This record gives sequence, C-alpha cells and structure tokens, in this order.
Amino acid sequence: MVKFNENYLNVKDSYLFSEIAKRVAAFEEANPDKKVIRLGIGDVTNPLSKAVINALEEGVKEMSKAETFKGYGPEQGYAFLRQAIKGYYQKRNVELDIDEVFISDGAKSDTGNITDMFSKDNTVLVPDPVYPVYVDTNTMNGRDIIFADATDENGFLPLPDPKVDADIIYICSPNNPTGAVYNKAQLKQWVDYALEKGAIILFDAAYERFITDETLPRSIYEIEGAKDCAVEFCSLSKTAGFTGTRCGYTIVPKNIKVTSSKGQDMYLNKMWLRRQSTKFNGVPYIVQKAAAAVFTEEGLKQADETLALYRKNAKIIASTLDEIGIKYYGGINSPYIWLKCPDNTDSWEFFDRLLNEAQVVGTPGAGFGKNGNNFFRLTSFNNEENTKEAMERLKKMLNK
Ligand code: PLP
Repeated sequence: MVKFNENYLNVKDSYLFSEIAKRVAAFEEANPDKKVIRLGIGDVTNPLSKAVINALEEGVKEMSKAETFKGYGPEQGYAFLRQAIKGYYQKRNVELDIDEVFISDGAKSDTGNITDMFSKDNTVLVPDPVYPVYVDTNTMNGRDIIFADATDENGFLPLPDPKVDADIIYICSPNNPTGAVYNKAQLKQWVDYALEKGAIILFDAAYERFITDETLPRSIYEIEGAKDCAVEFCSLSKTAGFTGTRCGYTIVPKNIKVTSSKGQDMYLNKMWLRRQSTKFNGVPYIVQKAAAAVFTEEGLKQADETLALYRKNAKIIASTLDEIGIKYYGGINSPYIWLKCPDNTDSWEFFDRLLNEAQVVGTPGAGFGKNGNNFFRLTSFNNEENTKEAMERLKKMLNK
C-alpha cells in the first residue's frame, strides 16, 4: 500500500485568507449597498512598466522566428539576466560571482525548495510572526521548528539568543507582515551567531526595494561574513509587479560548505545547481528578458515610479495612525503597516469590527503567528482614493 508523507498531517490548514474571504463575502451579501475597501491585499495592483512590456513584446517576436526562437534554456537562468543581477548588487558594493546567481520563478518556490538541501535532523529557527511558507515547508519535511519571538518589546526584530542552538535560520527583512527592517548592527549579530554555530541563514529580501533609508541593509551580503553563511532570496513580484509574471533570484555563495557525516566537504552552491538542473527547467525566456529590462536604468526608474505610488499610500495610513494615536510598525521601508489593535483587542475581533463598522478589510495578525494576536496588517497596495477613504472611515469608527 502507498505510504504518504505523514508530515502533511502536521501542516496547519491555511485558513487565514479563506476565512477572510468567507467573512467578507457574507458581509457583502447581507449589505449589497455598502462599498467594502480592501486594505488586506498582499498583491500588487499596478501594471508592468513600459520597459518590461517592451521587452516582453520583443521576446514574443523572437519566439516567432526560427533564427531567434529559444527552447530549453540554462536551468540556472540566462547569463544576460544573471549578469544584470550581479550588476545590481555591485551598485551596493556587493561582489557576486555570476555562478552564485540562480534565476527562479519566485521567492516562494525557492524558500521552500531550498529545504531539499538539508537533512531532517536540523533545528529550524523561524521568527513569529512571519510569512507562513517557512513553517509549512519545513513541517512538510518533518523538521523541528523553534520560534524567535518578535514582539512589541523587541520592535518585532528578534535578535539571536546564544543559548539557543539553531542550524537553519530564516530572516525576512523588510518583514512580512510587520514591516520591520533590521539595521546593519542587528543583522551582524545574526551573521556572527550563524558563523559561531555553523548555521545557515536563509534571508528573504523580497521587499528590499521598498527600503528608502540608505543606512538600512537591502541585502544580507552588505554584512561582513554573510557570504560564508547566508543564502539570499529575492523577487521581482513586489518590486516590479511580477506577481503574475513570475521571476525571482536566489544567491547561493560558493563559500558555504557543510561537512558530511563521512567527512566530505559539501558545497551548497554545487548541491543547489545539481538540484535545480534535476528538478527545474528554468524560467521562460520571455520572462527573463522582461526581468532583465527591470535592471536597466530606465527599468529601475519606472519600477521606482510605481513603488512611489505604494509608498504614498503607506504614508497616508501611517499619518492617520499617528494622528489618532495608534501604535504601528512598518509603513516607511515596507508596503506593510502593522498596527496594534485599539484597546489591545484580539485581531479577529478587530477584523470584524473594522468590516462591520467601517467596511474596511485588513489581515488579522493572528494569521502570521501567535505574537500577531493583538496586531493587524494593512497594506499599501490599494489605490490612493480608496486608501484615503478607508482612513477617513477608520477615524470615524474610532471617533477621532
Ligand atoms: N517572501 C515573502 C516574505 C513574501 O511576502 C512573499 C509574497 O507575499 C514571497 C516571498 C513570495 O514571493 P514570490 O511571488 O516571488 O513567490
């Protein structure tokens, strides 16, 4: 008889977004005349830039002629895109070898797939609250997970505890859902901890381009020693509107090695190349061409123009919260605003109140981990008009 991977029995139902959709649908059915504003959106809403569309069109034309048609490409991505990404890092004084750059179909796949590299017998340290994929993918593999509590007390930026022994450490900065961003000194503590313990950091930089404060690190490789212990995942999803187009990249430094039980050196970069060339056939040529257009001067300028629209919305939310005296994190170097539920109410209770009294939808913090129980996530991905209207309704609801 077939034996299933019973670790799946331990994966919690991903009930957060379905439960939100259910409650919103019930409200809309009962109140068809009321306009609901969605500030829970975790997806981008603005279209791809002109530079990206031009590249896509060019790519399609190339695919239509035998002389320029492309079939299977290199599993780790075309050199033209890997070179462009190397150049993007160089601007921040991070030197990468082109063989350290792997093109992916997004950060979700690779943050999950990387778990293939590691034995079940590793202790995984995951911040709470955080993007749920890290916990779910490791649960599917049956690994032990311990949590680093991100709380109001530590500004939602937990630091390493030398008494805790972790082998694999997930860090997400700027963080989803809290919007908190590690500074260089804090990230250095994690790098030093990993080097001392012989651990590996899996650094998710999906929101790096939302950082405007020049002193904050946008890549973990801005920290000395990180190339010896950290893998970095990045994505064009949120920074260039690629959520539906699908392209990201993973940096696996050549230095990172682990010793096998038989004493052999195993290099993570080599293992990842082997894994990718076995289980992945690359990102479509057209999409890689579009991704390369993002890294041109014009492409980056246009990406920033769109990010400016989201930043403006984040500012509208942040200034409203300032005005009415609600504590929050994020909103400056991140598209997410993580607010403390008024009167410390439970996040689902606040969700229902906001929906019923103001017709505004957000995301209850409880869905991202236990430390999110009294917090609530709003996002800047709706348009300016709706964001302003939602904030007026919030003020009215709280009599401010
Ligand atoms: N990492 C984080 C922290 C995210 O919030 C998300 C998406 O919401 C992803 C990764 C997934 O990105 P991608 O669209 O590149 O798979």
